[in-house]
Amino acid sequence: MAQISEDRFAFGGAPLPLEAAQGRLLAAHAVKCGTEAVALGEAVGRILADDAVAAFDLPPTDNSAVDGFAVHFDDLSPDAPTTLPIHGRTAAGAAPAGPLPRGQAQRIFTGAVMPEGPDTVMMQEDCTVAADCVTVRPGIRRGANRRPAGEDVTRGTVALAAGKRLMPPDIGLLAALGFVQVPVRTRLRVVLFSTGDEIATPPAPLRAGQVYDANKPMLAALLHRLGAMVVDGGVLPDTPAPTREALRTAAARADLVITSGGVSTGEEDHVRAAIEAVGTLQFWRVAIKPGRPVALGVLDGTPLLGLPGNPVAALITFTAIGRPLLDRLAGATYVPPPRFLVRSAFDYRKKPGRREYVRVQFDAAGAAHRHPREGAGILTSLTESDALMELPEDLTELAAGDLVACIPLGLLLG
Ligand code: AMP
Ligand code: MG
Repeated sequence: MAQISEDRFAFGGAPLPLEAAQGRLLAAHAVKCGTEAVALGEAVGRILADDAVAAFDLPPTDNSAVDGFAVHFDDLSPDAPTTLPIHGRTAAGAAPAGPLPRGQAQRIFTGAVMPEGPDTVMMQEDCTVAADCVTVRPGIRRGANRRPAGEDVTRGTVALAAGKRLMPPDIGLLAALGFVQVPVRTRLRVVLFSTGDEIATPPAPLRAGQVYDANKPMLAALLHRLGAMVVDGGVLPDTPAPTREALRTAAARADLVITSGGVSTGEEDHVRAAIEAVGTLQFWRVAIKPGRPVALGVLDGTPLLGLPGNPVAALITFTAIGRPLLDRLAGATYVPPPRFLVRSAFDYRKKPGRREYVRVQFDAAGAAHRHPREGAGILTSLTESDALMELPEDLTELAAGDLVACIPLGLLLG
């Protein structure tokens, strides 16, 4: 006899593997955002719209990596100290003090342009100065402490590729390359709804049976971090007609519509049916846990994403499906979060056929412990966890001591 859960599983075909769902959404949707120029100081978190090409070598000239003395390597004795007369002095920002003749050393400072001739710089800590001469220790290699022009970025090459979400180091690189303004994608407009007759919004007092809306503020925070412009669509009731109407209106004015809740197969779940009624459903179940019910549809080119209602499931499906979709629409290159192999501190069993994300905490030795409360509605299981342990589809048994891929929450949600 089939179990109830098996019946649910069978309804509408098998859930899509995560990669297949991601592949489908990338194929079905394209960039929606235009481009605008912003000042470099405003560009962090924005998405680079054109390749940033270096107009000159970085660094622009050969220069010294240390404070010391520029020398001709071939003037140095390989196994005994060498004494050379000091010829001139070049500081950072100054023109070099002229070419350096063979058999001499030039005083030089970090960042100063290498004079013509010498190929190596001795650190001042390895030198002794007496009268007008410097004595250098043997053992340095040719070219030491000399930074060649273009060693960071070569003129004419792509320093940062279009589609990159700009991080502080990217701002540093663009600044070093002389960018004052940067072409970035305009912000994606996202209309965000919660659903459910039990969902209340503070400061309204909680009535019996109600819970406060956790998902909309949490998802809005995720979206803000990703550079989107969020419009609060409010809370939709558990009734079909207003849900359909709200999706239609939102799709007409947004680049992306996101809902949470009401996407399962219960009688009170109307989001999937509403997506199907007003648009075209692209998929509605993905083989991940938590979060199997997650619906993606499209209405007149605007994607409608229905996330599950349990807050943990909403967050995990957002990172697995919402994030690649948002990046696609916003013109960002989706880069899956890095996984780190971590030793599990626990045994675990799971069903085959779906990927499972287990909330874990790291101990001082770096081993991963399962969060003691695992329900999909337990918000503290997220606030108190360090990472999601990712258990692949075919895995059924995990033993303490096994190395498993973990995604730190800080990287996943960044
Ligand atoms: P649903 O997917 O609508 O069946 O909701 C699953 C569970 O998540 C229920 O316990 C809901 O009360 C809860 N839930 C749904 N939406 C929210 C929300 N916006 N904030 C907090 N909990 C929610
Ligand atoms: Mg609901």
